[in-house]
Amino acid sequence: MNLSERDKAVNWHPYTQMKTADDIIPIVRGKGIYLFDDQGKQYIDAVSSWWVTLHGHAHPYIAERVSEQLHTLEQVIFAGFTHEPAIQLSENLLNILPENQKKVFYSDNGSTAVEVALKMAIQYAYNENHKKTKILALKNAYHGDTFGAMSVSGRSVWTQPFSEMLFEVVFIDAPTTENLDSLKKFIKNISGEIACFIYEPLIQGAAGMLMHKAEDLSELMKFCREQKILMIQDEVFTGFGRTGKLFAANHLSEQPDMMCFSKGLTGGTMPMGITSCSQEIFNAFLSDDQYKTLFHGHSFTANPLACTAALASMELLLKEETRQHIEHIVTKHSEFSEILRQHPKVENIRQTGTILAWEIISGQQTSYFNDIGKLLYKEFLKRGVLLRPLGNIMYLVPPYCITGDELDLIYHHIIKVLDDF
Ligand SMILES: *Cc1c(COP(=O)(O)O)cnc(C)c1O
Repeated sequence: MNLSERDKAVNWHPYTQMKTADDIIPIVRGKGIYLFDDQGKQYIDAVSSWWVTLHGHAHPYIAERVSEQLHTLEQVIFAGFTHEPAIQLSENLLNILPENQKKVFYSDNGSTAVEVALKMAIQYAYNENHKKTKILALKNAYHGDTFGAMSVSGRSVWTQPFSEMLFEVVFIDAPTTENLDSLKKFIKNISGEIACFIYEPLIQGAAGMLMHKAEDLSELMKFCREQKILMIQDEVFTGFGRTGKLFAANHLSEQPDMMCFSKGLTGGTMPMGITSCSQEIFNAFLSDDQYKTLFHGHSFTANPLACTAALASMELLLKEETRQHIEHIVTKHSEFSEILRQHPKVENIRQTGTILAWEIISGQQTSYFNDIGKLLYKEFLKRGVLLRPLGNIMYLVPPYCITGDELDLIYHHIIKVLDDF
């Protein structure tokens, strides 16, 4: 049996209807922006393998550092013990986060980083004897697939089977200059009961790369601060350079109480989640009363290999050369936007940093199940480009090491496919 057949016999893939799924492609190796399948065909990974790969696949520097660590200390219980990679990573990360972020809590992925932040916010109120149980989130939000993360995500086909089991959340529209006043009025009415506001800053990724303005979000954050509503900024997608700056936080004038990271945290090489928080949040758990402890942890909390991958990736990220690469992608994308703007089948072009998205005019409703997405996905794969449209919404989220010529090649394929469409 070949790899595809063996896979089919035993594996259940994410977000995949296994009955109707097309052949799943076995990848045998990756290098830079390329993935190579078992037939020797190569694909440009234009979505950074679900938005995680920052510096390209199988990066030799990250590989070397992780390999060294693997021979030194691969794992140790993080309750009662610590290690250099976790200490160094927390130090380095806090150095580049908003100034009020003072403590780092480790977990395994984006969803768990969100779960931890939610538990911090809710238990913060509990420990302080406040009766605050409501949570505020944005319509169409996506914060992950575990139950807490699903609860604070927009209700959709993804959450439908579990709808009865999800806790209640108050959903508000993403901020716009026009709706800010009414949002504030609405929040003010219930602010005494709200434990926290969780949001994806600047870009609601999984919802279809919906974007809002930094000024509008800052204004909403300022209001939440005045109303004593804790803020959880989910930078799982936007963190580590995606928005053109190190974090979405660097576009905002207000600082959140907690922040969530994953995806690009390790450069996309190892699973890891981080929830950072302010001193005030941390202090609310300090007590002689054992009941005020944050009772949360995972077997692999602060795994030394993942910490080392993150340290190596952040070193690469902070290089001047990487900053220039990111700027180059931003410029190239905005030039290509102008070309897309001329195309009769394209609308709603939007860009934040290295993320470019647009919609295809299809006659069907804009939705995740829009058939066009699947057709486009296959057509681009045929052309050796991995793009994964969200229904009729197409987007590019390339690894930062991509060259101008490689971007031009992707743009060329996009225009060709749109023309033929
Ligand atoms: C992907 C994502 C998550 C979930 O991360 P996982 O590692 O897939 O669990 C959470 N929040 C945002 C904004 C994301 O894009």
